[in-house]
Amino acid sequence: MILNKEININFLKNNIKEFSYSLGFEKVGFARFRFFSKEIEKYKNWLANGYQASMNYLERNIDKRENIGLILSDVKSIIVFAHSYFTDVQHSKSIFKISRYAWGDDYHDILEKKIRKVANFISEQVDTFKFKIYVDTGPILEKIWAVEAGIGWQGKNSLVLSQELGSYFFIGIMLTNLDVPPDTKVVDRCGECRKCIDACPTNAIVSPKVVDSRKCISFWTIEKKIHEEIPHQLDFKGWIFGCDICQEVCPWNSKAKITKELAFYPRNGKTNLEEEDLMKLTIENFKEVFRKSPIKRAKFEGLMKNYLHLRGLNEFE
Ligand code: SF4
Ligand code: SF4
Repeated sequence: MILNKEININFLKNNIKEFSYSLGFEKVGFARFRFFSKEIEKYKNWLANGYQASMNYLERNIDKRENIGLILSDVKSIIVFAHSYFTDVQHSKSIFKISRYAWGDDYHDILEKKIRKVANFISEQVDTFKFKIYVDTGPILEKIWAVEAGIGWQGKNSLVLSQELGSYFFIGIMLTNLDVPPDTKVVDRCGECRKCIDACPTNAIVSPKVVDSRKCISFWTIEKKIHEEIPHQLDFKGWIFGCDICQEVCPWNSKAKITKELAFYPRNGKTNLEEEDLMKLTIENFKEVFRKSPIKRAKFEGLMKNYLHLRGLNEFE
């Protein structure tokens, strides 16, 4: 690694953190590259149980998930970025609710742009700098790297949880060839609590940290394939896109930090979809209505199925 000037690596690490905070990230952690041998076995077990439901992409690139050296051959340090999306806004109605993470603009683009700025910042100081950025897009076990980098611990609802941030935050990852001292992992502070497990209306948290997507409202409202039929008995509890129940009950989220990013505030102040707007949706205008919104992931057919399911109807009635 060639630093352009005589820069101490700890000084550089500190500068990277400070620069990232100035972009709106609340936490930044460094992990040292290692194989995820034990972790990948757990992951394979999770897949073997069918808990990924129809998200077949999760079955691909297992070798890369275990060894990110197959993605960036001289990877040494992994930088993990945490960006809060929590606002002090509450749901205004109890039907057609949107998960908090999807109230504003699509986080993929926003985080990617910010992390790219950090990469440019590093490139100005390190001639030989190489990197790869991932925001929920590649074969990266993000949550495990976030734990490894000291961002937080994995809660029983399977999400990464931080003492300072709660769990309403996005995770971005940068694989780098920098050789930076890692941060310390934090202790698991779930303790005896099991509020998320008990509150899940569909018993989708089958054991601590293990979610069966086949039972999860988030999966059914966001990720299902167009041809998949929503199980009749599955109560969406008013959610039309996502589900925040296992986060809402988490005591650590009473400390959630309000985001500085205005793009994550509810579009037009709306935390729910309106029935009259849903009625006006067509396959043609769907993309325009949900342009730059995470909701477009559900696709027109998927969102309509959610609506009909919430109204107790099915497609053919
Ligand atoms: S998102 Fe909802 S359905 Fe899924 S595990 Fe959490 S509480 Fe259960
Ligand atoms: S609700 Fe309790 S058990 Fe679940 S993630 Fe939060 S602290 Fe952990």
